[in-house]
Amino acid sequence: MHSFRYVRGKLHCEGVSIESLVEQHGTPLYVYSQETFAGHYRKLDEALKPLDHLICFAVKANSNLAVLRTLANEGSGFDTVSEGELRRVAAAGGDLKRCVFAGVGKTEDEIAFALKRGIYAFNVESEPELLRINRVAAKLKRIAPVAMRVNPNIDAHTHAKITTGTYENKFGVAFEEIEGIYGRASRLKNLHLRGLQMHIGSQLTEVKPFEAAVRKVAPLVDLLSKRHGFEFFSIGGGLGIVYDPALASGTAEWWNSPAARKLLTPEKYARTLIPLLQPLGLKILIEPGRFIAGNSGILATRVEYVKQTGRKNFVIVDAAMNDLIRPAMYDSYHEVVPLRKRTGKRIASDVVGPICESGDSFCKNRPLPKVAEGDYLALLSAGAYGSVMGSTYNSRPLAAEVLVNGSQSQLVRQRQPIQKVWDGEKIPSWL
Ligand SMILES: *Cc1c(COP(=O)(O)O)cnc(C)c1O
Repeated sequence: MHSFRYVRGKLHCEGVSIESLVEQHGTPLYVYSQETFAGHYRKLDEALKPLDHLICFAVKANSNLAVLRTLANEGSGFDTVSEGELRRVAAAGGDLKRCVFAGVGKTEDEIAFALKRGIYAFNVESEPELLRINRVAAKLKRIAPVAMRVNPNIDAHTHAKITTGTYENKFGVAFEEIEGIYGRASRLKNLHLRGLQMHIGSQLTEVKPFEAAVRKVAPLVDLLSKRHGFEFFSIGGGLGIVYDPALASGTAEWWNSPAARKLLTPEKYARTLIPLLQPLGLKILIEPGRFIAGNSGILATRVEYVKQTGRKNFVIVDAAMNDLIRPAMYDSYHEVVPLRKRTGKRIASDVVGPICESGDSFCKNRPLPKVAEGDYLALLSAGAYGSVMGSTYNSRPLAAEVLVNGSQSQLVRQRQPIQKVWDGEKIPSWL
């Protein structure tokens, strides 16, 4: 499943002890497993083999150049949401012809950039955007490949902040309006109606919502495909991963837990969806982010203080919400384990960062082994929506990132030098 495990009592990423990495590079430190990134990609690719398909890794989940290169080498396409992400893919050696460009707020400049460089398709989120793309394309004398994003109004049964496929959400166009829009779009001269796209949400742990959405949208795809000559149907991303196996198993070795075995596997996903998709006779795009990246990375951190107040045991670490915001933003669970395996009594602990916000907390009342100042911990499953959401809040530099490949490791993003935190700021001449 992934490549973080204890070897002789020390947490390793593939063949490298994470303790040796933190000693070399300091903390907080993101550590990524190349084998896990590539392995998850291959698993999905294998499961989808019966379909003509293209996996477009959702760059927003983890956009480090080394990660993008790893996936580009596997043959991945990319799902991007800004000019910056398109440029990153290019910088990493990815193929823009295998990129889709999504997002509700594409600017004229971004559209022009994507048209000039030549992408696979714009995933269009509104009719005004469609008109804008047509206008920019006419000005540049190009034909823009487009797919409308349909909102199927399906509840994905996931956290409110990461559901995207109901009419409460800002994404896409209502199912009922799609046919009309394609009719009007077919009269716009600088568009190529290449397909249809949907994405119902993130961290889905069951196949049912995917199935319901595909069942609802497939007949529409079929109709429009025959009418407009589609090439593809993108079913979006959203495959969930196991963050919280301890709840099920009570063990910190979560890769062996029953929850890990119960998870929504690519095989289950493919087995359910392939029979619904195959009859369309189209190329199927899928846009996974978390499934590929989530369990491919951890965040290593140092214990600075242990503080007992009232009934609480606070473990104060040097990573904070500016490094990993998911617990503060989505109440999400990250398994916390020491880099040196500990047995013995567990103490209900709150692992918190140094930032001056009560929300700067990674877990509350979690039974953890006793730790002391100078020990190191790992926050697991931090490979997706981790480093990419980092900020310099409290003037804390962006964390360093390391990629491991077998027994090799290399820094793939240096720790931000502290002076760079206020780079670009100026004191006006009148002060
Ligand atoms: C975020 C996003 C994805 C990736 O979601 P995951 O849950 O990480 O797989 C895919 N497609 C679109 C349109 C997205 O917004």
